Amino acid sequence: MKFCLPFIVSAYALLQGCAANPPLDPITAVSSGELTALQALYDVKHYQLEIEVVPEQKTIIGNVSMTALALGAITQIELDFDPRFKIAMVTVNERQAYFELSNGKLLITTDLLARGSEFTTSVSYKGRPYEAENPPWDGGFVWSRTESGQHWIATAVQGRGCDLYWPCKDHVSDKPERGADMLITVPNDLVAVMNGILVSEQTIKGKTRYHWQTTNPISAYHLAINIGPFKEYRLERQSLIGQGNKAPSTFPIVFYHITEDMEKIENLIKNDFSSQLDFYERTLGPYPWGNEKIGIVEIPYLGMEHQTMNGYGNEFRRDPEGFDWLMQHEFAHEWFGNLMTQEASRDFWLHEGFANYMQPIYAQNVIGDAGFWSKMWRNYNAIASCKPVIPEEDVSMDYFDSNDPYFKGSWTLHTLRWMMGEEKFWNAVRRLIYDTPDPWSLSYPITPTQRSSEDFITIASDEYGEDLRWFFDAYLFSKDIPTLKVDRSNNELRLSFRDLPSLILDIPVVLYEDSALKGDKHNVSRSTTLSIRSDGSSHAVPSSARIQIDPEVKIFREFSTAQRCQISQ
Ligand SMILES: [Zn+2]
Repeated sequence: MKFCLPFIVSAYALLQGCAANPPLDPITAVSSGELTALQALYDVKHYQLEIEVVPEQKTIIGNVSMTALALGAITQIELDFDPRFKIAMVTVNERQAYFELSNGKLLITTDLLARGSEFTTSVSYKGRPYEAENPPWDGGFVWSRTESGQHWIATAVQGRGCDLYWPCKDHVSDKPERGADMLITVPNDLVAVMNGILVSEQTIKGKTRYHWQTTNPISAYHLAINIGPFKEYRLERQSLIGQGNKAPSTFPIVFYHITEDMEKIENLIKNDFSSQLDFYERTLGPYPWGNEKIGIVEIPYLGMEHQTMNGYGNEFRRDPEGFDWLMQHEFAHEWFGNLMTQEASRDFWLHEGFANYMQPIYAQNVIGDAGFWSKMWRNYNAIASCKPVIPEEDVSMDYFDSNDPYFKGSWTLHTLRWMMGEEKFWNAVRRLIYDTPDPWSLSYPITPTQRSSEDFITIASDEYGEDLRWFFDAYLFSKDIPTLKVDRSNNELRLSFRDLPSLILDIPVVLYEDSALKGDKHNVSRSTTLSIRSDGSSHAVPSSARIQIDPEVKIFREFSTAQRCQISQ
């Protein structure tokens, strides 16, 4: 635990740093990593958050319950929680319990809980939550104001975890199967919006309590508080896709907005969002949470993929490909991240690599190949390659200090798609997400999946008909981008990957042979496309011929257009 030392710091530092926003405990500052022995002893089934937010004091008053299944005999329950909060009381099965809060861990002592029994903990607390310095990347509570001066509050805790403002099991591996209830109390002039559906709204003595409920499993970091003078814009959306034997379902797109310009809002929802959701439902399968809603809320930072209540802060900007990229990316996470969730933090690319690859594909749908390549090329040149995208061991989220899970992940998928072919690739993707290549036959509620990188390799190998581990070894378990070595001498051409002899791909090579016709000043060029294996074997190619390797850029390789790894290690 870090202490404030008023005797040795200046009054300024005390006011600005210590009193206002003391630094995070190192354990609280990170999320996931290896599951502790005590946390491996239970499986969370349900969370209930009752939180009053007092904007004028930047404080919260909470009472959070967790119902869990004991997977072994338990006498100590370990939760993650920021030690800056003052705990008034802890109970286990409604009996007061002894507790200790230090080093980012809340340890509760309990009478023996037998294996197989369900138990409920409840923690009452209050305090001033940590403020985000650079949300959504360096997250926490965001206390902001609208242009008219009203409170506008949000949370962003993906990298750091739920323990920044409520006691929870801060680990990616454990979603509450029965979902969560969130009862958020705010001053009367504000509205609190969250995941799932609004069950009730109750006003007492100048405060309003909003009860939101999701019955779908949900990652703890998605339980994000959004508060502001929101107005609601609702559009019933007819899904394009029928599910099971039923007619296509209808569910609402709901946008909680601060912006008053209705034309901008209608344009964004009716054009961008609707077309983006159609694209996902056609390409991947049914929207995962059609039994609740598609929710979007305007927030005072860029964005975050909170399940059924995505944070939108892109201020209606369009990217160079002509659409609003932010929600197009965040919507992808409803499939990659929310329905299919990584098993451990090392599998982060399963969220971001896939979500990122859906952006150029969508741009291609909208404006053709120029859109696709414009995005792919920008991403390519931003790859850092300082360390493998998939580390061998599990890591906490702070391992990821570059965009490589996004961009290197996306480029790897591009080459995999070419190698597997459209049908097998998309079947593998659907199996990854829904556990079936035919998700259109499913009905709500759709069961989420939890996946590791190895699961995807197994599924893709199964669809392809060959073990693909070697492919992922080269692209995601290795640090560098493969460099193609081209040896051409006499009438022979040899291709191989420098330092990666095991990466053997059939590389398209176009051969141009020029010949001048009699009486014609112009050369006539004849082209042939060869498929040359990168195993270093020799291929006959006339020395007069001009060659172009992989002109359609199917193969992810080092073009030396960018300086890699500029981060000092
Ligand atoms: Zn993302």
